[in-house]
Amino acid sequence: MICQRCGFCCHRLDVMIINPRSIGPDGTIDLQDRNSMIRKPMGEKCPHLAYLGDLAVCTIHDLPCYRGTPCDRFDQPGPEDCVCTVSGYFRASGSAIDISRL
Ligand code: SF4
Ligand code: SF4
Repeated sequence: MICQRCGFCCHRLDVMIINPRSIGPDGTIDLQDRNSMIRKPMGEKCPHLAYLGDLAVCTIHDLPCYRGTPCDRFDQPGPEDCVCTVSGYFRASGSAIDISRL
């Protein structure tokens, strides 16, 4: 799946994310710590989301702790070179986000 970097899923989905307070200097988390994953509720901006202009950036995407998280595993059925359909769904359903207000 090709991500269009819209950031919609990082606002609109209810998902378990890495607790920002649990990330160590080396980018890992203590897997025994039950508080290392927290719930990001639907409609709330993820604390790891930033923007470069209009481009959504996951600030922990390249850290070791990101590997295997629900976000890392987020995908859609079909060929790998298909554009993300979730983005189009949110856009079509009027869920577009005005990032100037974030
Ligand atoms: S909704 Fe799709 S295109 Fe937009 S940031 Fe999420 S994965 Fe990427
Ligand atoms: S952890 Fe990254 S990919 Fe997951 S919701 Fe937050 S900003 Fe988006």
